[in-house]
Amino acid sequence: MEQFYFYQKWLKSNGLEHSPLKEKTPRSDDWACFEDEIAACRRCPYGEKRIHPVIGEGPLSASLVFVGEGPGREEDESGRPFVGRAGRLLRKVLEEMGQSPSSFYIANIVKCRPFNNENPKEEAVQACLPFLQRQLALIKPRVIVSLGKVPGMILSGEKEIKITKEHGRVSSYSGIPLVLTFHPSFLVRPNGSSFIPSFVEDLKKALDYCP
Ligand code: SF4
Repeated sequence: MEQFYFYQKWLKSNGLEHSPLKEKTPRSDDWACFEDEIAACRRCPYGEKRIHPVIGEGPLSASLVFVGEGPGREEDESGRPFVGRAGRLLRKVLEEMGQSPSSFYIANIVKCRPFNNENPKEEAVQACLPFLQRQLALIKPRVIVSLGKVPGMILSGEKEIKITKEHGRVSSYSGIPLVLTFHPSFLVRPNGSSFIPSFVEDLKKALDYCP
């Protein structure tokens, strides 16, 4: 219980007021075309209602890539990944581990906000996944961290993952180590905050793959 209150307090007192500065993704002609393609995409219904597609953020030379499910409300409004409360927790934890926004890339399985924050529908995943696959092929990270069960299952190809039991396990995506961990939106819930130390350990495991 003591630990629970400690992490509740930690959540309140850290990183909830301001989003960190945007780490811009450098644009090459190829990358500009890629962004334009996503901006014009309407391959699935999520494209019709989005405010902004959320392509990803960070340097294309990153060794570490985080992959979440899809944009939420604040991400849809800003066009940036992981800027809501859960994202600020992720960024704060990384900052405390000495990781600046220039050392990682963040993206999602789908680029447009799923309706009512639902798990992305199969048709949207099928339509959108090639974009992420192209990003990962370009970035060639040393390690990928999947945030939550859905991206873990999609990237690993595994049929079922129980994150509370299997977090920290290293699976793989196209030969790249894939560390399974919690989605930070779970960690900011009252019953999730006690898992923050485990989340930190999972991230440490991922960082062991980085130079
Ligand atoms: S979610 Fe992906 S596939 Fe669907 S419209 Fe947006 S960019 Fe296109």
